[in-house]
Amino acid sequence: MAILIAADLSADEWASWWPALQAALPDEQLVRDRAQVPAGQIDIALVANPKGGELQGLPGLALIQSLWAGVEGLLADPTVPADVPLARMVDPAMNEAMAQTALWAVLGLHRRFFSYAVQQQARQWRQRAQWRADEVPVAVLGLGHMGRAVAQRLALNGYPVRGWSRSQAEVDGVVALAGEAALAHVLSTARVVINLLPLTPATRAFFNADRFAQMLRGASLVNLARGAHVVEADLLAALDSGRLGHAVLDVFGTEPLPASHAFWGHPQITVLPHVAALTDPRSAAPVVAQNIRALRQGRPLEHLVDRSRGY
Ligand code: NAP
Repeated sequence: MAILIAADLSADEWASWWPALQAALPDEQLVRDRAQVPAGQIDIALVANPKGGELQGLPGLALIQSLWAGVEGLLADPTVPADVPLARMVDPAMNEAMAQTALWAVLGLHRRFFSYAVQQQARQWRQRAQWRADEVPVAVLGLGHMGRAVAQRLALNGYPVRGWSRSQAEVDGVVALAGEAALAHVLSTARVVINLLPLTPATRAFFNADRFAQMLRGASLVNLARGAHVVEADLLAALDSGRLGHAVLDVFGTEPLPASHAFWGHPQITVLPHVAALTDPRSAAPVVAQNIRALRQGRPLEHLVDRSRGY
């Protein structure tokens, strides 16, 4: 049997993924082009933004393994076979990178480092009030692999952290709340709200004018999940009216963020080019290999997506 890598990768990305996958899967036949082997021989597809239709007509397909953590694009593609198990990328190294990014963002907001960066542009010398970490409550929305790592890292650094998820979670050092009823409390008590929800029909456009109105006046939003979680016009209005103080954004409705976009030059917005937690083939290829070995040995697959929930 053969493994098809159906991935829209740059030459540089291929140069790191290909040797990493070969090293992690030395006994497997890896193909980059499905025409290299008869369709019936392909039983696993490793995917990253596959071309529409690329996974159709593969009668032996038994596993679709995403190389990315987010799978909303695969779920929205009607040509991705709905009856084949779909696993997503869960890599502890990515969780660690996400925790670092969140800590940087919260420190920058808490200690006003983003405001000082704006002041520097204007050659302005102005010292602002300095708060303690325990005076800066943080909300983490989504307590999955990323959200837990983030919430714990922030709690370890002295921030009072409330986490919110669909079902009740338990995270050391974090007040974990669940369900719609708890959401208003979580939003209205945080100086910084961090989004780590998956993008699903239930969470699309989650951060809109109504939700911003529930947040503390002058609080900040850190979006590290998906651009479509945020209604961009509502965010701009909330920042311009003073309802929100600052936004740190790693993800956008259109990526790359167009050069003409209002976010680039906004003094209350910090833009990152979707780098909060990049997939690193050095750690991700062994994660992929583990699931492939599980399939070959008839063991349960890990990190399967629940298609009915959308994540
Ligand atoms: P995950 O493990 O699937 O966790 C999702 C969490 O969100 C779970 O706690 C889940 O609750 C909760 N949730 C889902 N739907 C909800 C709803 N409607 N209301 C309340 N809570 C809900 O996801 P993850 O791996 O941590 O990834 C989180 C996000 O990060 C995703 O959007 C992913 O695409 C994004 N991401 C971004 C980058 C980047 O570089 N910017 C990198 C990787 C991932 P339950 O526990 O009850 O199911």
